[in-house]
Amino acid sequence: MRSFSFVTSGIVVLIYHFFEDESHSSGIEKPDEKAYMIHIDSFRNQMKYLKEHDFQVITLDELSKNAVWTNRGVIITIDDGHDSIYSLALPVLNEFGFKAELFITTDWIDSPDYLSAARIKELSHKGMEIGSHAKSHKFLDDLDESMIAVELSESKSKLSSILGRTIETLAIPGGKYNKRVLEIAKTSGYKRIFTSKCSVFGSNDNWCEIPRFTIMRDTSFDEFKKIVNQNPMVRWRKGMRDLLREILIGLFGKTLFYKIQKTRFLLTKHLFHHS
Ligand SMILES: [Zn+2]
Repeated sequence: MRSFSFVTSGIVVLIYHFFEDESHSSGIEKPDEKAYMIHIDSFRNQMKYLKEHDFQVITLDELSKNAVWTNRGVIITIDDGHDSIYSLALPVLNEFGFKAELFITTDWIDSPDYLSAARIKELSHKGMEIGSHAKSHKFLDDLDESMIAVELSESKSKLSSILGRTIETLAIPGGKYNKRVLEIAKTSGYKRIFTSKCSVFGSNDNWCEIPRFTIMRDTSFDEFKKIVNQNPMVRWRKGMRDLLREILIGLFGKTLFYKIQKTRFLLTKHLFHHS
């Protein structure tokens, strides 16, 4: 069962996925994936806000070395390994002097619209932190133990061979995990594990269950400001949404829940956003 740790202050970890602008189409067409794609101008505005309001954008490694536990600390993470990280997000991060943690789904390396091994290497040389986002992006809590181990160890070794160093950071695909997934991740050699549990990361929290806030296409600038300023209402609302999701999964089962969620998403899009 999920535990809610509404600590009063700590580090805010943000999750991004895909970026696009008028001249760089993301190649993302599925509506449920498109919900995670944001225009690069929105990303730039958000980064500009962090810079202008003296937030300290840090990496997890810097946090572990310097232990700057300030409630102005922000860690930027980008999941999946889409090529728009290189073509669009990197210039913006450079513009503000920010580094990000990139979590790569290794089966997608070198496939159309995703980062090549050479670009992952280059991003690492430019100061970005690289971690695993498993091998195939299957939800780990659905898999048996041997499959979880394959997902976690093969992605780890593939990234290690590209970068020539050990990979010890993992972001769990879809934020879907349980105790068994965490245990296998730890035995596979991961020391820092990011989830999608909605909370700030406090100094007493577990480094194997680091919470994060997802920034989506429909996250308004106002909501972004509330997230980074650690407005308790945001955490409460998101926490309630997560709790409701767990209750519904408990009632209907996972397969039916995701079917309902997908239908609802498509319906909403059709009724309100279809042009
Ligand atoms: Zn993902």
